[in-house]
Amino acid sequence: MFDPEEVRKDFPILSRKINGRPLVYFDNAASTQKPIQVINVIVEFYRNHYANIHRGLHTLSQEASEMYEKAHETLAKFINAYSWEEVVFCNNTTDAMNLVAYAWGLKNLREGDEIVATIMDHHSTMLPWRKIAKMKGAVVKYINVTPQGYLDYDSLNTIITPKTKVIVFPIASNVLGTINNVEELVKRAREVGSIVVADGAQSVPHTLTDVRKLGVDFLGFSGHKMLGPTGSGVLWGRRDILEEMDLFKVGGDTIRDVTVDDTVWLDLPWRFEAGTPNIEAGIALGVAAEYLMKLGMENVREHEKHLVAYTLKRLSEEFPDDIRVYGPRDPGDKTGVVSFNIIGLNHHTVAKALDLFGIAVRSGMHCAHPLHYSLKITYLEKPPSSLPEKPEDRLILYGSVRASYYVYNTFEEVDYFIETLGKIVNLKEALKKEKPEAPCTG
Ligand code: PMP
Repeated sequence: MFDPEEVRKDFPILSRKINGRPLVYFDNAASTQKPIQVINVIVEFYRNHYANIHRGLHTLSQEASEMYEKAHETLAKFINAYSWEEVVFCNNTTDAMNLVAYAWGLKNLREGDEIVATIMDHHSTMLPWRKIAKMKGAVVKYINVTPQGYLDYDSLNTIITPKTKVIVFPIASNVLGTINNVEELVKRAREVGSIVVADGAQSVPHTLTDVRKLGVDFLGFSGHKMLGPTGSGVLWGRRDILEEMDLFKVGGDTIRDVTVDDTVWLDLPWRFEAGTPNIEAGIALGVAAEYLMKLGMENVREHEKHLVAYTLKRLSEEFPDDIRVYGPRDPGDKTGVVSFNIIGLNHHTVAKALDLFGIAVRSGMHCAHPLHYSLKITYLEKPPSSLPEKPEDRLILYGSVRASYYVYNTFEEVDYFIETLGKIVNLKEALKKEKPEAPCTG
């Protein structure tokens, strides 16, 4: 049985105190903590097996290569890929999204082609395509988000056209938690012959992922958001598309042979992993994926769903007038993310106050500025009628506080969080005098 109290024993950092209080780590959508198994494998690799991979015939290089290749196999199993060769290791989701945009987009997009993104896209998914569109004379269109936090599926008939060549979207929003209707988006893409690029940064760590059923062409996700190390991530791609795609970065480890006139590329996935990779991060990502599979991804999903249901219920019952929550109200439609504002209190002030009580949350626009502007997500009673001209003014006015859960979070922690929010609400008038810290631009 899945028991978060048992899980917690594997995470040394959770025994830390912050400002004299036990750490409550609710910033998992930004990055998760690491279990001892992941920490140990990194130490073990450096102590006993370290060498560069794929370059030496000596024992250490062979061992390191085997460990790194095995991690690809584990990740293939984790997302039910047909083969580990479809699994390209990269640094993070941003890296995966840039890889597809440059490698597929530069080769296949023409002037006047259309790319369909969404207003809830993370900048890491939106901006690479905007850049490629500019280079190729293509046009980016956006699917809007409804006030309830869902994609506006009614608009698809007009947005998706025979000119659409790419549809790119997050499977789950990092701000609203909304789980998007992948089936519908894939169906629409197939009707017009478009490829589908899915950002799995907020879905793969939290839900069972089966790329065979998902039906998308590409899926990117980050290792550090699923108990793995920073510097680890995955781009999964459909084999036939990966095979015909141009390379993004070229150099050592991408080639079989090079003459002055010619280059013969390596097989998948190595031709997309240029240079010496983050070997230990890749190996430890495999251990993180094994850890999650042992917990059971259905259990992970159920646990977060219960935490979110409980949080939403208590927030709406106890702070109906003081706290505004964003995104779907049905826990079945969202991941373990709760974004909100205390009306009248700047989001950064709230995050700082929560930190004084040991609670780690994220505040700001969470790398999703267009979404915040579109839904007018602000702590103000009433948002201004137009966007302030200066970015620094926009960054102060718009934003939210985000609590995001994972496998080691408990109902007791949520109780403490709600109780602390109550204290902050009571101190609202005094806290209003606080000048919000310079916001991060995320
Ligand atoms: N997409 C989404 C939905 C995300 O939440 C994030 C991380 N906040 C990213 C992409 C980018 O991930 P990374 O910073 O690991 O590249």
